[in-house]
Parts: sequence; structure tokens; C-alpha cells
Amino acid sequence: MDRNIILESEITCPGCHYRKTEKMPVNACQWFYECENCHTLLKPKPADCCVFCSYGSVKCPPIQQNEACCSGSDITPAYKS
Ligand SMILES: [Zn+2]
Repeated sequence: MDRNIILESEITCPGCHYRKTEKMPVNACQWFYECENCHTLLKPKPADCCVFCSYGSVKCPPIQQNEACCSGSDITPAYKS
């Protein structure tokens, strides 16, 4: 059985600290997220693969499964067909 993957993450805007729970896409990373409150466009921090990893309460699904995400950083990508 797979571990339970959490698909909702509470994003906290670094500008105004507004929080919103968002559903995460399972097979794609979300690079940009616009804060609903102050309309700041959030981008991932350099070490992170997506906005959920940088600003969310829960990391994105690939990270939860200990798999490399779609970004190249310094993790070996684990592409599986
Ligand atoms: Zn904001």
C-alpha cells in the first residue's frame, strides 16, 4: 500500500500572511501562485521545487513520496514510465 499522500496544502503568503488551503496537482509542480489577498505572485525559493514546498504547510506529492520532483535542482530525477 502506498503511504497516504496529502493533496491539500495551506499556503501562507510571505507578504501579507494570508492563508489559503489549495489542492495540489498530483503529477505536476505548481511554480506560481497568486495570493488572493494581496495579489503577490509567489515563486518557489531556490532550493524548492514548487510553491507548496516553499510556502505550503505540506510539501508537494512527489516530495511526500521521496521522489524527485519535476525540477532539476540537485536531486537525480527519477523518471518512471
Ligand atoms: Zn498576500
